[in-house]
Amino acid sequence: MQTEVEFPPINTAETTVKHPKLWMPKRVVFVPEALEQPFGQQVYERVQRLGLPIEIMKNNRVTGLRGETERETYKLAKNTLAIVNAPPSAFKLRPIPPSADFQFHLAEGCPAHCQYCYLAGSLQGPPAVRVFANLPLILKNNERYMQANKITSFEASCYTDPLSIEHLTGSLEETIRFFGQKPEAHLRFVTKFDAVDPLLDIEHNGHTRWRISLNAEPVSRRLEGGTSPLEARLAALRKLALPKEAGGGAYPIGVVLAPIMAIENWQEEYIKLLDRLEQKLDFPTDLTFELITHRFTPGSKEVLLGWYPNTSLDLDEAQRAVKRNKFGGSKYVYPADVMLQMKRFFYQEIGRRFPAAKILYWT
Ligand code: SF4
Repeated sequence: MQTEVEFPPINTAETTVKHPKLWMPKRVVFVPEALEQPFGQQVYERVQRLGLPIEIMKNNRVTGLRGETERETYKLAKNTLAIVNAPPSAFKLRPIPPSADFQFHLAEGCPAHCQYCYLAGSLQGPPAVRVFANLPLILKNNERYMQANKITSFEASCYTDPLSIEHLTGSLEETIRFFGQKPEAHLRFVTKFDAVDPLLDIEHNGHTRWRISLNAEPVSRRLEGGTSPLEARLAALRKLALPKEAGGGAYPIGVVLAPIMAIENWQEEYIKLLDRLEQKLDFPTDLTFELITHRFTPGSKEVLLGWYPNTSLDLDEAQRAVKRNKFGGSKYVYPADVMLQMKRFFYQEIGRRFPAAKILYWT
């Protein structure tokens, strides 16, 4: 039997939440072929309405992203939004285990400044944000990968934080609507931002799982520059999951705990986080967890130290175990005994607080 649950009005839960300013790039660049796309035109109008300075490139290459030093390049690129077309290779989808069947991309790059950023090892060149103007074709192409008798899952946040740029692009809204019409497909993405209000009323039909990335307060405060504060992310997660009649989006939700770090007093710090999460989700939810421990590669370490030379992030290989992949690459992870201790801890603490939630994986 369904128990009746009373939901406090959304504003009561929000009164103490500080919302960060939305990112406004200092430079917005369109390439000509992006402006030929109707969706590119829509982005152009949005950006124009926001009064941002727009440049149109002479050809389809984005230039002016490099400074004299690594730091200058970082600054220039992180302040630039480029609207381009996704290349032909973006139409050949790759699997992304264990998160989803396939990954596809609305954009590449992110305006935030996480000092462990996982994009450091995966995207080449200056870290500008590139938004894809041929989004309707990208979405249409996903249909080729859907199957009649099974749900196919699609991950949209491998190379970007899609909510961080939504106010400038509208790409996420378009994408959630598209998947809302596809009974055979599910959309998933993760964010460290909180501006979810404009997306609560979309007809998603339960086909989109919003995941919010959370971490212990000291990690978040120290290492996740330019993202929404934890409290705002927790409030956003609540809003996303609340039923429509309580002013929410009634979305399936997920928590991505990443990157889990063995910081000083890590048990206490993560317990505080899980307690706060439990308080926010005090009503029935469709909730999943993904648990990802911190790791780095020689390549990502080099890029990150170029971007954040004074970082306090622990990148000491001597404290880690080496994990090799079948292509000869290596990454540094926590030693097996630390991993085991952390895994036990999280399964126990999550299981105790959220018995109905599913832990999708630990890595
Ligand atoms: S929010 Fe994600 S993509 Fe953006 S800087 Fe942080 S880790 Fe990187």
